Amino acid sequence: MNTNTVTVIIGAGQAGCDLATALRQQGYAGRIILLGEEPVPPYRRPPLSKTYLAGDIGEEALYIKPRAAYAKQDIDLRTGVRVTAIDRQAHTVSLDNGERIAYDKLAITTGGRPRLLPLAGADKPNVHYVRTLEDINRLRAHFAPGRRLVIIGGGYIGLEAAAVGIKKGLAVTLVEALPRLLARVTGPELSQYYAGVHRRHGVDIRLGAGVEALEGGEQVEFVVLQDGTRLPADLVIVGIGLVPNTELAEQAGLEVDNGIIVDLYAQTSDPDIVAAGDCTNHDNGFLGRRLRLESVPNASEQGRVAAASICGQRVAHAGVPWFWSDQYDLKLQMVGLSQGHDRVVIRGSMDADSFAAFYLQEGVVIAVDAVNRPQDFMVGKKMVAARLKADPATLADEIVVLKSLVA
Ligand SMILES: Cc1cc2nc3c(=O)[nH]c(=O)nc-3n(C[C@H](O)[C@H](O)[C@H](O)COP(=O)(O)OP(=O)(O)OC[C@H]3O[C@@H](n4cnc5c(N)ncnc54)[C@H](O)[C@@H]3O)c2cc1C
Repeated sequence: MNTNTVTVIIGAGQAGCDLATALRQQGYAGRIILLGEEPVPPYRRPPLSKTYLAGDIGEEALYIKPRAAYAKQDIDLRTGVRVTAIDRQAHTVSLDNGERIAYDKLAITTGGRPRLLPLAGADKPNVHYVRTLEDINRLRAHFAPGRRLVIIGGGYIGLEAAAVGIKKGLAVTLVEALPRLLARVTGPELSQYYAGVHRRHGVDIRLGAGVEALEGGEQVEFVVLQDGTRLPADLVIVGIGLVPNTELAEQAGLEVDNGIIVDLYAQTSDPDIVAAGDCTNHDNGFLGRRLRLESVPNASEQGRVAAASICGQRVAHAGVPWFWSDQYDLKLQMVGLSQGHDRVVIRGSMDADSFAAFYLQEGVVIAVDAVNRPQDFMVGKKMVAARLKADPATLADEIVVLKSLVA
């Protein structure tokens, strides 16, 4: 590879960092410039709503690698700079400090930003979002015992924040507009299980509860529901989804539709531009369809696939999607996508907080959600990848060693 080539990566998050590292691992000898808007080196977001919010770990523990490691790998990491435009004809990017940088290959790994609550008062200082280290530093300062926390949104982020809120002695109410928690990502059995867990720990969960208004003076004092209920609040967290950061790509004329459109090789509609992570709407070779995923394993794998494309190799993005979530002392690990299942088999005991739910479609295991069952999760991963046909009674029978089913 020509050592004079330049790869510019826009977005120093999980995908951008893993892409830069993979380029070096794959023998890329050119220059790598990794540009990040945030003032810190690339960091892991998952602990933000878990151990970091709880104050159990410090900031540096979040860093994917220490700042010095970038120089060692000859990766020119520049933080605190925002890319404002891409000029595809000139092969340059413009920065908010007036600088222009020329590229041979460009990678877009701009992630996403929280969906804003479309209500008056949502910009008041005690309304918080959970995406960046800065968000959590601001939020953490208000996590004091006895404070009344209202969380809007019953997805992972809302639930993880609720668990930390309880641990820190806050009075937590969680409102979800849909009739069940985690509705986008799992089946009704898990939704019901998690509602039970949170209620047991003292979270006041309101399902099917749309938020109508935020009332108060300088701060929000009440979250008003559509049925007229007024929930008193010292603190509000909004966790209602993510908007992919696609504006740069759009302005540059790349194909965008709920994410930057990329193929199996993380290639955009421009042969010199790849994209990876939360900002992409990508082809997945295993699923045989296009989707947008918000997960670390996806950002990492796609980062590696994009690096291979830059190096002139063709490595397809074909991993089975997987994810995890920590709430209280429960480790949830999920693999596959359960939408479209026609049967659920529970192995183990929900009452004992140790079980795995197998989702079957015409007898084939398409997804597994495991709670405090890392071994079942590992085997489940293999089952889903192999599109294993399994007998429901055998799956449920704890006498049967699960591993024996995947041989
Ligand atoms: C609180 C929280 C908890 C999570 N928990 C889990 C979990 O348990 N398991 C899991 O698998 N996933 C989890 N996720 C999701 C996971 O963190 C994301 O999927 C992952 O970070 C995506 O990586 P990314 O590189 O695509 O985007 P990001 O990590 O968001 O990185 C994108 C970066 O690009 C920068 N950027 C954007 N535009 C520009 C620009 N114009 N110029 C310069 N820089 C720019 C942004 O500032 C950002 O730093 C969690 C996410 C959050 C927020």
